[in-house]
Amino acid sequence: MILIKKINLPSSIIEETLQFFVDYGQYNLEACAIWVGEELQNIFEVKEVWFPEQKNTMITYYISDIDVHNINVKLNKKKYSAIAQLHTHPGNAYHSSIDDKHTILNLPGSFSIVIPDYGNIPINAIDEWVVYRLLNGEWTLQKKNMVRKLFQIIK
Ligand SMILES: [Zn+2]
Repeated sequence: MILIKKINLPSSIIEETLQFFVDYGQYNLEACAIWVGEELQNIFEVKEVWFPEQKNTMITYYISDIDVHNINVKLNKKKYSAIAQLHTHPGNAYHSSIDDKHTILNLPGSFSIVIPDYGNIPINAIDEWVVYRLLNGEWTLQKKNMVRKLFQIIK
């Protein structure tokens, strides 16, 4: 994960992710998704979005240890890895102290992306995402220009 310099991200996967978020947002609930796929020579190809079993509230979401385990089993089976976890906030996007503790990805170089307004943003609005990367054990905010370089929206 740590060596990945580019992430190819199909616009259809962003669309599916945002739709899921908006569906929960209608009920004022945060929601969580994971982007999974394959790493090939420092380029990550996002293949699917997964929506883990989750409990959702207005201010957070919760995924049980069992369900985190189930995600890892499924990843192994498909020979996929998870590049990013995403979740929504009602308004502004930022990583709360709860978010820092509740992350389900733990490989160095993984991403955690916070999406504002319960996902009511355009598909190509990368600048609206607030993106953190797990570096030296800390979720580190990534600059917008870095995010734009990392995430390439493809057809
Ligand atoms: Zn949060």
